[in-house]
Amino acid sequence: MASTAPARLLIDAPGARSVTYAQAEETTLRLATALRQMGLVPGDRVAVQVRKSPEAFLLYLACLRGGYVFVPLNTAYTLAELDYFLRDAEPGLFVCRPEQKAESEPLCKAAGVERLETLGIAADGSLFDFARDLKGDPACLFDGQPDTLAALLYTSGTTGRSKGAMLTHRNLASNAAALVEAWRFTGDDKVLHVLPIFHTHGLFIAGNTVLAAGAGMIFPDHSDPAHVIAEMKRATVFMGVPTHYTRLLASPALTRDATSSIRLFVSGSAPLRPETHREFEARTGHRILERYAMTETVVITSNPHDGERRPGAVGFPLPGVSVRLSDPASGAVLSGGEAVGMIEVAGPGRFVGYWRNPEKTAEDIREDGFFRTGDLGRIDEDGYLHIVGRAKDLIISGGYNVYPKEVESELDQLPGIREATVVGLPHPDFGEGVTAFVIPLPGAHPVEADLLSQLGKRLANYKQPKRILFVDEFPRNALGKIQKNVLRDTHRDLYE
Ligand code: ATP
Ligand code: MG
Repeated sequence: MASTAPARLLIDAPGARSVTYAQAEETTLRLATALRQMGLVPGDRVAVQVRKSPEAFLLYLACLRGGYVFVPLNTAYTLAELDYFLRDAEPGLFVCRPEQKAESEPLCKAAGVERLETLGIAADGSLFDFARDLKGDPACLFDGQPDTLAALLYTSGTTGRSKGAMLTHRNLASNAAALVEAWRFTGDDKVLHVLPIFHTHGLFIAGNTVLAAGAGMIFPDHSDPAHVIAEMKRATVFMGVPTHYTRLLASPALTRDATSSIRLFVSGSAPLRPETHREFEARTGHRILERYAMTETVVITSNPHDGERRPGAVGFPLPGVSVRLSDPASGAVLSGGEAVGMIEVAGPGRFVGYWRNPEKTAEDIREDGFFRTGDLGRIDEDGYLHIVGRAKDLIISGGYNVYPKEVESELDQLPGIREATVVGLPHPDFGEGVTAFVIPLPGAHPVEADLLSQLGKRLANYKQPKRILFVDEFPRNALGKIQKNVLRDTHRDLYE
């Protein structure tokens, strides 16, 4: 934490729920003391599956201060998924929602988790009952080294089973410091925080940057756009995923005046469509700053704070971060040009490996320290990185490489289309058949044959979809990421 005026608000929450820096310091000391008294020792994992609240964020800080490895879990996980995460992480303590306690007990037993506590959204539950009247003991704080583990964060599971990324104090601190610099954060900033705190976006990119700057964040009590827009008057920074921006744009309350207090809008976690970028600027006068991050690396690149924020690009490496492209098959490092390659990253924010998975770690972290992200990209003539898609989503049709993003961008520009996503499905003649899924605009009724003939004028033959299917929504995860693997599974027999 930056040395900050103790009376300044770290978390601005409705009712009497706000937390000053002084209160955060005191509560986290008490919580760290409670964890030690529960029998945990530094290095133990603390798995947490609770709803977002000021106390949930304080529990994260208490783990950092007490030397425990924080393991946040998505509240949407089913019991079967929870079972996997508890067995994999082997935490010494699991903190769940009060209403989930009965269901969690047998899972904890089976996974050998010794302690189970609860935390509700009003600081209710057994954890705070235990900690409330304790006297904080500074001897329970852990004098951590930069290379000790701070968090075990599971990836979103977009391409397969979630992997546990081991992140150190150095990883988190270096990224937060780089973001304070890159995004010009000061103690006067207030982030309107609408993200979940079980992923890197809400927890580290928003939370740690606020802490490193000694700034504050608003936890609104509703997520509906009208409420969020009303809260913008009290904030200086907004961070969201592309779905937040499309939802905000759907509200007539989003105006130049409503956003006049905000100095910076940031987007990430999934590609922001250039159309959304332009529409947002036309409506509010703000150019959204898009950045690129992963669970394994925190933020990698960012569009510039001062300088051109380029729609469709994710910008330049953060201070201290190195980015290069390599041939996805041979691993040979590419030099210059506009060739598409695997994005590789090195720097102090890069994780130290996958939890209990040395094979995958050795596969993805190269000997010279660069991490193979699994994303394909190209660097334009001005040095901006563009993400072309994931290597796993690359379609090989009739022997030709097709980048779904290129086809999606063309479809997005056709009339009557709200959003398009493109995947490869098994095809008897072509190996994979390029297949588009399209959400029409409200009231529009695009026709497959018309769209195909329009695309025929814009895309080489081998890139053209074999089929275009119309849907109401795409399968998405908690951060609005499209789950292409679900689409591929559901429609795998389309061409059989
Ligand atoms: P898994 O690794 O389990 O398949 P995941 O990669 O979706 O899941 P995260 O670590 O949450 O899990 O997400 C990182 C990925 O999100 C990146 O590798 C990239 O594909 C995507 N991403 C993040 N920011 C952007 C962005 N601005 N534009 C496009 N893609 C982005
Ligand atoms: Mg990933």
